[in-house]
Amino acid sequence: MKKITDYNLENKKVIIRCDFNVPIQNGKIMDETRIKESLKTIKYAREKGAKIILLSHMGRVKEEKDKEKYTLKPVAESLSKKLRKKVIFVDQTRGEKVENAINKMKPKDVILLENTRFEDLNGELESNNDEALGKYWASLGDIFINDAFGTIHRSHASNVGIATYLKSGIGFLVEKELKELEKLNNPKRPYTIVLGGAKISDKIGLVNVLAEKADYLLIGGGMAFTFLKSAGFNIGMSVLDKDSLEFCAEMLKKYEDKIILPIDIIVSKDMKTKTERFINEIEEDETGLDIGPKTVKLFKQYLESSKTIFLNGPLGYFENENFQNGTKQICQIISENKGIKIVGGGDTASAVTSLGYAKKMTHISTGGGASLKFIEGKPLKALEIIKWKIKKVF
Ligand code: ADP
Ligand code: MG
Repeated sequence: MKKITDYNLENKKVIIRCDFNVPIQNGKIMDETRIKESLKTIKYAREKGAKIILLSHMGRVKEEKDKEKYTLKPVAESLSKKLRKKVIFVDQTRGEKVENAINKMKPKDVILLENTRFEDLNGELESNNDEALGKYWASLGDIFINDAFGTIHRSHASNVGIATYLKSGIGFLVEKELKELEKLNNPKRPYTIVLGGAKISDKIGLVNVLAEKADYLLIGGGMAFTFLKSAGFNIGMSVLDKDSLEFCAEMLKKYEDKIILPIDIIVSKDMKTKTERFINEIEEDETGLDIGPKTVKLFKQYLESSKTIFLNGPLGYFENENFQNGTKQICQIISENKGIKIVGGGDTASAVTSLGYAKKMTHISTGGGASLKFIEGKPLKALEIIKWKIKKVF
């Protein structure tokens, strides 16, 4: 597969698809990890004298008012500081303003266009890989570099679409991600996967594959409750994916020696007070928000003896201090392990970083869904298109 280093970038208009999908609150970036991770490729392209056009998505843009929340303007400001070079922000995704700004570019200039998902407002053009949109964006550059691992498993206009029409390659971040995640393809055993988080319907379907690949699958976070309910426990008000109950019951039966569920839960009625409950003691008006200390001990037994560990999804509602102990303890246990320790998922990466464990991990993937797809062994759509030798013409 072609890489950025395979191309002569001098004086070329290089479109780099980055992953600037950072958490934002009131216009303030809460975690800059993804911006920092993108710097290597951007700096390299500048050193080589390219004219750099950056594209990225942020959040999900469903209505007009989402535009204010998900503008990439704060990203341009952060990037300017980090690159010590003014990044020109164009508040459009196409049109004259975009084209004029690009025409004026000199080598080493950097332009960031507005959130690609603003194009989702009229017919989800970006997310459905609208052909005309991909073609248009491709027409703005000479070479396309995909360095956005978070969306590498998806077929969007800003990744697959552009790569269909331009000479393409991967950036340093995507290259690093693939190299590190490759360690999970032939893992040293025992291999333990810890699955948590709240994107239940997105991830639950993978339990089958994950249980097949791993020796142990420890399930915590919001993910655990659909399994607990399917096993007959009362989960009160905890998050549930009703449609997956039957599937969970089937998984528990099929992988009874591999899937390990929590035995105690921290519950709350008001998010302020917390109570420890065995899983058979949860009451109707209680919400499960973290794994309990006995579950931490149970999970520890599996994690300590593992030679490879993959963590995807926080084990509780860690954004609230009351419910971060489980995630913290599990991070501590994983960090003490001497084997391969890989973390995947946007929120998981934030949790691991904010709790101070980032440096202790072998690798923190910037892609949640993408890292899971990689482990699943499914083709990553935006990579497949780069591998293709034949491109469509304009
Ligand atoms: P990632 O981004 O790492 O793939 P997800 O998006 O699936 O992870 O889930 C992250 C979210 O899951 C966090 O915001 C966290 O607060 C939430 N979460 C974890 N456990 C629970 C729980 N028991 N109840 C509700 N939310 C939870
Ligand atoms: Mg998430």
